[in-house]
This record gives sequence, C-alpha cells and structure tokens, in this order.
Amino acid sequence: MSLLLRLARSGYLSNKRVLVYERSPKNLNDRTWCFWEKGEGFFEEVVHHSWDTVGFYSNEFSSDLTLAPYRYKMIRGIDFYRHCMGVLEQYPQVEFRYEEVGATEVIQRLAPVVFNSIYDPSQKDPRATHLLQHFKGRVIETAEDFFDPAQATLMDFRVDQGYGTTFAYVLPLTRRKALVEYTLFTERLLSNAEYDRGLDEYMDRFMKIGPHQVIEEEFGVIPMTGQSFPFYRNGMYQLGTAGGQTKASSGYTFQFIQKRSDLIARALIEGRSLYQLPSDSSRFLFYDRVLLEVLAKGLWPGDRVFARLFARNPVQRVFAFLDNETSLMDELKLISSLPKLPFMQAAGRVLAPR
Ligand SMILES: Cc1cc2nc3c(=O)[nH]c(=O)nc-3n(C[C@H](O)[C@H](O)[C@H](O)COP(=O)(O)OP(=O)(O)OC[C@H]3O[C@@H](n4cnc5c(N)ncnc54)[C@H](O)[C@@H]3O)c2cc1C
Repeated sequence: MSLLLRLARSGYLSNKRVLVYERSPKNLNDRTWCFWEKGEGFFEEVVHHSWDTVGFYSNEFSSDLTLAPYRYKMIRGIDFYRHCMGVLEQYPQVEFRYEEVGATEVIQRLAPVVFNSIYDPSQKDPRATHLLQHFKGRVIETAEDFFDPAQATLMDFRVDQGYGTTFAYVLPLTRRKALVEYTLFTERLLSNAEYDRGLDEYMDRFMKIGPHQVIEEEFGVIPMTGQSFPFYRNGMYQLGTAGGQTKASSGYTFQFIQKRSDLIARALIEGRSLYQLPSDSSRFLFYDRVLLEVLAKGLWPGDRVFARLFARNPVQRVFAFLDNETSLMDELKLISSLPKLPFMQAAGRVLAPR
C-alpha cells in the first residue's frame, strides 16, 4: 500500500495495470503502528495521535524525554487501510483480487514486475540469530480522568525480566483512554494467561490503575532476525518484513517501509532499474546482529542495554541510530555508552564463520 499509493499519486500508473492479491478485504483494526518522525510524513492525515514527550523507565534510569524535532506518532491499522483504499478507488487500473496466494510461479507468469509482501517464516536461515518480539495489548477506558494525552510511555522495563527482555508501554489517547502493551523479546511465545498476568501486574503495580474497561485487545508477533533478506528473490521484489525492513534489534518496521517505498517509487518513476537500488546499510545490519546476539544469548540484560543507551545519549541520537541514520561519530558515542566485554563477545560471534 505504501508503495502503490506513492506510484498512484505520482501519475506513474496512468498507462499501467496493477493487480493486488490480498487474502481478504482489510476491514479490521488488526494492528497499531507507532514510530517517530520529524515533521510531516506521507501518511500524516491518518495519524491518530502523537506525543512530543515520552517516558523511559527502568531500575537503572528513568526520565521524561523531550523528543523535538521528533514526534512519536500512532496510526491505527483500520484508518490506514481505509485511507489507502479510498485513494486507490479513484484508479480503475488497480484491481484487487481477494484470494490466498499459493504457488508464486503462477503469479510471476502474470506480470512483468512482481512485488511480494508475504513473509515466510519457514525460510529461516539456521545460521542467523532469531528472536521474536511478541506482545499483547489492551485499549482501556477508565471511569475517571487518569492519563495525560500529551505524554506516552515509550518503554517501561521495571516489569519482571524473568522471561528475558520484557517491557510495557502506555499510549494515552484521551484523559480516560489508552493502549497498554506488554512486550517481550524472547525465543518462544507465552501462553495467553501469561500475557494477561504480565499486563495485570503492570497495570496494578506501576500504573496503579483503578476501575477500567477493556475496549479492544491486540496481539502480535514480529520476527527479529539477523538474517539477510535480498531485495530480489524468487523472481520478485521483496517488500516490508519479507524484504528485511523490520529492524532486527527493535522490530520497528513502519518507517523503514516508508523510506524504502520512496526509493522504489522514485526509481520506477524516473525509469531507473530496481537492481541498482542501494541495499540496506551493512554497518547497521552488523550493529543489529550484535545487539540481537547480546539479547538472544543473554550476554547482558536487555533492560540494562536500553537503560544505558537512553541514560548516556540524547534521545534524538538513539532515535537516529535506531533509524540507521547516525554518523560514525555518533555511533562511537553510542557504542562507548555500552559495556565493552559482552558487546565484543557478541561481535566476535557475529563475525565468526558459521
Ligand atoms: C500487531 C502488530 C503491531 C505492530 N506494530 C508496529 C509498530 O508499532 N511500529 C512498527 O514500526 N512496526 C510494527 N509492526 C511491524 C510491521 O510494521 C508490520 O508488521 C507491518 O504491517 C509490516 O508490513 P508488511 O507489508 O511487511 O506486512 P503486512 O502489513 O502484514 O502485509 C502483508 C499482507 O499480505 C497478506 N498476505 C499474507 N499472506 C498472504 C497469502 N498467502 N495470500 C494473500 N495475501 C497474503 C496479508 O493479509 C497482509 O495484508 C507491527 C506488527 C504487528 C503484527
């Protein structure tokens, strides 16, 4: 959708036909995207809420962080899907077919250029490190005013770290309504009862929330993997998570998809070959692999890694780093805020032939 909308709006589709395969119409609010951004983005009109201050909490370091020039933004899945479909309805050359795609060869015979957004977890590279980011969230409503809609909680690591790297976050939408999420970076998923226990404990102990109602629930799993995702594979250009746009060490994807869609759209519009698109920076892939290795092998606790990063660097530097947008000088500052031994151990493992 991010790519197609850019192509549609540029006029590129005027003499083209596009066929989109999708399982079924996207009419559910099946996810909520959050990301930070400077200024206005391509999907600004569907931003549901944004915050200019966020809280970071852990046993080692806690602070309110002023984000300017960034804002932390939220887009609800359903608003995004409706907006995209609303725009695309004006383009008769875009056709939607609602069916499950199986054999990719069939699709490839249909069109000269094929983009694929289907992530196939069975194609896991056994040599790479893999974790899962998994989370359960609740949109809750309180009977009395309780939240400050101007400030979100980005990460709260004060929760029990017994399963591995675990944090909660709170995204207030009004004085009485917020999304509360319980998130883990671990190898295995939990049972539903365990997510519920984590959420209940966080809301009782740290938020000290009174009577409230649960309006919606969300559950999600995002792969965090150090493996390489070639842009062109099986005769198709790979997009989104399937194209390696999920940041291995954080799970953030939305903004990487936007940046990649911009690059692809511009190349197509200008008549340049997609083979020449710059691939994702190998320097940042290396940092991601090292951090993932530290977390996956428990070389240093994840809550302390993030606490160090936020305690010893301005939040803007951390955000730029997580966006793969820092200079080498900034990266040296970030690296020097972390403990040397576990990270060197992890770097050694990442660099060792597997
Ligand atoms: C619940 C949830 C919350 C997330 N929150 C954030 C967040 O806050 N910030 C962030 O940056 N990232 C977040 N992510 C990660 C990432 O941004 C999203 O997963 C994002 O939607 C990935 O985009 P995509 O195009 O790769 O895949 P998708 O958006 O999942 O699109 C793939 C599409 O392919 C369709 N499809 C799959 N298989 C088939 C098939 N066989 N036949 C036909 N159609 C098929 C699916 O129905 C789907 O519509 C979240 C992910 C989840 C699951």
